[in-house]
Amino acid sequence: MQRTLSILKPDITRRNLTGAVNQKIEASGLRILAQKRLQLTLDQAQKFYAVHQERAFFNDLCNFMISGPVVVQVLEGDSAIDHYRTVMGATNPANADEGTIRREFAESIEANSVHGSDSLENAVTEISFFFSEIEIVD
Ligand code: GDP
Repeated sequence: MQRTLSILKPDITRRNLTGAVNQKIEASGLRILAQKRLQLTLDQAQKFYAVHQERAFFNDLCNFMISGPVVVQVLEGDSAIDHYRTVMGATNPANADEGTIRREFAESIEANSVHGSDSLENAVTEISFFFSEIEIVD
C-alpha cells in the first residue's frame, strides 16, 4: 500500500466538478483517506512548486493555483503513486488517454485539473506539506 498527495486544481472547484473527479478516483480503486478545501496563498503555491521555480511557466502556474480554492487529498492504494498518475493522464490534456481525468476535464496544459505526486519521496514531502498524521484516517 502507498499514499500519494492529490490536488484538485481551481479549474475543478470553479466548475463544481469535485464530486465528478472524486468518483473517478474512487472508481479506480483508490481510497480518499483525507481531504480538505483550501485557498492557497501565493507564498504557499510558490513553496509547493519550488522544484519548478526555474521553469518559464512558474509564475503563471502559481497564479493559476491561487485563482480559486483547491481540494487537497491523501489517496491510498496499491502502487498509489503510479496508479494515480495513470488515472490523471498526461500533463497536456491533448495527449491524455481516453478515460483519464485530464482527458475528460482539463481545460489546458496549465489548468489541467489535478496534481499527483511523482515519486515516493515527493509523496511523503507533499502529504506533510498539507496534512498532519492525525488528519489521515485509515
Ligand atoms: P505533472 O507532474 O503532470 O503535473 O506536470 P509537471 O510537474 O511537468 O508540471 C507541473 C504543472 O505545471 C502541470 O500540472 C501544469 O499545471 C503546469 N505546466 C506544465 N507544463 C506547462 C506549460 O508548458 N505551460 C504552463 N502554463 N503550465 C504548465
